[in-house]
Amino acid sequence: ASLRAYSSGIVSSPYNDVHIPEISVTQYLFDAQEPYADKTALVDGISGHSLTHGEFREQCHRLGSALTRLGVTKGDVVGLVSPNCPEFAVTFYGVAAIGAVNTTVSSAYLADGIATQLFNSGASVVVAHKGVLPAVREACEACPDVRHIIVIHAAPEDEQAGLLSYQTLLKDDGKAFPQTVQIDPREDMVVLPYSSGTTGLPKGVMLTHYNLVANMQQLQHEDISTLNNTGDKQEVFLGILPYFHIYGMVPCMGMSLVSGSKTVTLPFLKPELFVKTMEKYKITYLHTVPPILDFLASSDMVKPELLAPTHSVLCGAAPIGTTLITDLLKKFGDGIYFQEGYGMTEASPVTHVTPRTKFVMGSTGVSIPNTLTKIVDLNTGKTLQPDGGEGELCVKGPQVMKGYYKNEEATRATIDPEGWLHTGDIARMDQDNNVFIVDRLKELIKVKGLQVAPAELEDLIRQLPDVTDVGVVGMPVDRASGEAPRAFVVLSSGSQLSLKAIEDFVEGKVPPHKKLAGGLEYVEAIPRSPTGKILRRELKAMALSRLAQ
Ligand code: AMP
Repeated sequence: ASLRAYSSGIVSSPYNDVHIPEISVTQYLFDAQEPYADKTALVDGISGHSLTHGEFREQCHRLGSALTRLGVTKGDVVGLVSPNCPEFAVTFYGVAAIGAVNTTVSSAYLADGIATQLFNSGASVVVAHKGVLPAVREACEACPDVRHIIVIHAAPEDEQAGLLSYQTLLKDDGKAFPQTVQIDPREDMVVLPYSSGTTGLPKGVMLTHYNLVANMQQLQHEDISTLNNTGDKQEVFLGILPYFHIYGMVPCMGMSLVSGSKTVTLPFLKPELFVKTMEKYKITYLHTVPPILDFLASSDMVKPELLAPTHSVLCGAAPIGTTLITDLLKKFGDGIYFQEGYGMTEASPVTHVTPRTKFVMGSTGVSIPNTLTKIVDLNTGKTLQPDGGEGELCVKGPQVMKGYYKNEEATRATIDPEGWLHTGDIARMDQDNNVFIVDRLKELIKVKGLQVAPAELEDLIRQLPDVTDVGVVGMPVDRASGEAPRAFVVLSSGSQLSLKAIEDFVEGKVPPHKKLAGGLEYVEAIPRSPTGKILRRELKAMALSRLAQ
């Protein structure tokens, strides 16, 4: 069978399949945590406050009970807007435990961005960190379905204003926890993160309990994971990648908990704080994105000794230049194991990681267990043989989403009838089945590992009365940020609207990573296909050639 699979160009994982239990993600997690009940699970890197794996489970139970008393039942959507902290993890799994669905929102979003996601997902309750409360309250004014706002670290005046205190809810006796809630792991959603996918505006990505259990099982395969929590050993993660994004949510937060490790959470990336936390807590296992990798490799603040306790450094979410990896390995030597991963929100997220046995520079590695890969010719749609050139990367496995929320058209355009997820990335594969991401077919822009949907910025800029047309594309910047959005604007004749005014308008409406840091320019017309689609490659090539002059 494997020979037939090979001759069709479809490539399976080099690793044995793993068994994926058909249970809820919370049963899976709580069972796995059992042997580590007395060990520390989470530490707030700012306050130093910590909780054990046993306490974590207990708090999920209490929160689940408190939410039930508030009328939250299976299938209800709870918005979670918070920077990383232990309470984020408790909320996520407390909501999941009662069969409700988390929609995780970037805590960097301004009110408009938060409202759009809460409204689209139909959230009825929002859990918000005190630090983001003003934006959340403003957002909720536009979302009549939101019945309660629960505030992590609420002040007395918040409660007087009718908001609920997370810390008070945690005092619940747990008795209202719905013991009988039936979760169908393959059908029931556990989280609804947002991703623009291959085109258009951000869409809710329906990830089921089974999807998350699958990806955590796959990543624990003995040929992939370097985690070791046996005996007195305990791995220490740095929880710096934002938990609202799938990379922070599953490979970082989820994998730390399920493996019995400890995570020190940090709510934001500040160089001094990062270094001090690494020193203080002796991080053994470090998940990064390219900007953090660049900081490690380039900054004088980071001495090679800083990574002495660290055995593994992992990176994903955006292309990682080979010079960056070379610089990293030069600075830290053979003492660290570097692993690159590839994935996307729609795949919970991981589908490929570099093999432990053979690191191939520039590759995102081979399929993880239970995952099939194929590369499809962009013109003919035919599956290419390994080493047969570039095409669209397609993947199939138990971690692939159920679909986009209330958007069958986008689902059909992304997952074909045979279950293949079309990633929108252009890749090639070598003879050893290592995948190399070479370009992006989809319009998505990645800034510091985070998504920027051009359509969202275009819709925003189009709100300006003098703008008759606009196109946004990602421009390559430095190796830390990767790309930055650039706008091409067509104005109505006689308009005096300045580029600076457009830039300021956008800046006032979007989080920092969506700013037009790639610049703006006027153009006479936006190149479009006969069907009206913006020809983004043309726009980008135009700008690149002009900038090169
Ligand atoms: P997201 O859904 O935000 O995780 O974004 C997924 C997209 O990020 C992928 O489709 C790729 O375009 C990009 N990406 C993720 N990991 C890598 C990687 N290791 N190398 C290159 N691009 C990546």
